[in-house]
Amino acid sequence: MKPASFTYYRSSSVEEAVQWLGEHPEGKIVAGGQSLIPLMNFRLSRPEELLDITGIPDLASVVEADGVLDIGGLIRHQALAEHEVLQRQVPVLTDAARHVGHWAIRNKGTLGGSLVHADPAAELPAAMVALNATFELASSDGVREVSAREFYLGFLMTDIQPGELLTHVSIPIREDVSFGFIEIARRPGDFALAGAFVEVAGDGTGAVTWFGISGGPERRELTWADTPEERKVALLEQLDTVDILEDEMYRRHAAVTVAEQAYRSVVGGTQL
Ligand SMILES: Cc1cc2nc3c(=O)[nH]c(=O)nc-3n(C[C@H](O)[C@H](O)[C@H](O)COP(=O)(O)OP(=O)(O)OC[C@H]3O[C@@H](n4cnc5c(N)ncnc54)[C@H](O)[C@@H]3O)c2cc1C
Repeated sequence: MKPASFTYYRSSSVEEAVQWLGEHPEGKIVAGGQSLIPLMNFRLSRPEELLDITGIPDLASVVEADGVLDIGGLIRHQALAEHEVLQRQVPVLTDAARHVGHWAIRNKGTLGGSLVHADPAAELPAAMVALNATFELASSDGVREVSAREFYLGFLMTDIQPGELLTHVSIPIREDVSFGFIEIARRPGDFALAGAFVEVAGDGTGAVTWFGISGGPERRELTWADTPEERKVALLEQLDTVDILEDEMYRRHAAVTVAEQAYRSVVGGTQL
């Protein structure tokens, strides 16, 4: 399958890219191409102009300063998974990145592309919601910051505006909270059928962020009960407020299972 014809542009700086986006309102950014190009090949997306941003230097860096991690939007999934600072400070993120597709996809796909494409079963948008990340969006009007928790609006819908480029993600380093992550997929490398990030604070409070069960990341705060039975009841209560995709019974069950396993991965204990 081949895409409809398009004109290809390439930018070498953020300034050049946002100027191009301002002048080409119908144009589309391509980064790793691992979501956009299949859509174009199936003719589900037919942009007439594509702007390749992979030549912009300095957008794939990771900087740790003042308790915050700043990650460039062009970092590839595989580089994210293997990054030594991230493995030390946010192992839940590097673990999640290892679950994105296969090596060939992780070697091309970028963090920014995944966060903006916003597949409901994608790991990284939910990771950013759980980690309370902030996205930096640049346009010809300037730069704005949006919390990941406000960015995701529904099925493949985000708060990104025409002409905006996701340049950076910042993540506060939390030493008071432990994180866990588990997903269920048919085969290794497949999109998740259901996945969960859990946060567990020392006083037993925390949250669960699900993905793959509805139109986007679903974060719910809760107090983690002492027994699996009580935790199941609490999780099912939270799921009552989620607009679950098809196969509702299965997904509810899967959502409780991944949350419980992610919880146990943090606090220890036998797996379900
Ligand atoms: C077989 C297969 C299996 C996969 N499995 C998984 C999986 O298990 N989990 C998962 O999460 N993903 C999976 N993916 C998708 C993969 O992670 C993509 O890399 C990712 O969704 C998009 O990143 P990209 O850089 O390739 O973006 P592109 O495909 O280049 O772009 C995607 C969208 O984001 C926009 N965009 C890209 N970068 C920016 C930016 N910096 N600022 C603003 N807009 C931008 C583009 O305009 C486009 O609309 C899979 C893909 C394939 C082909």
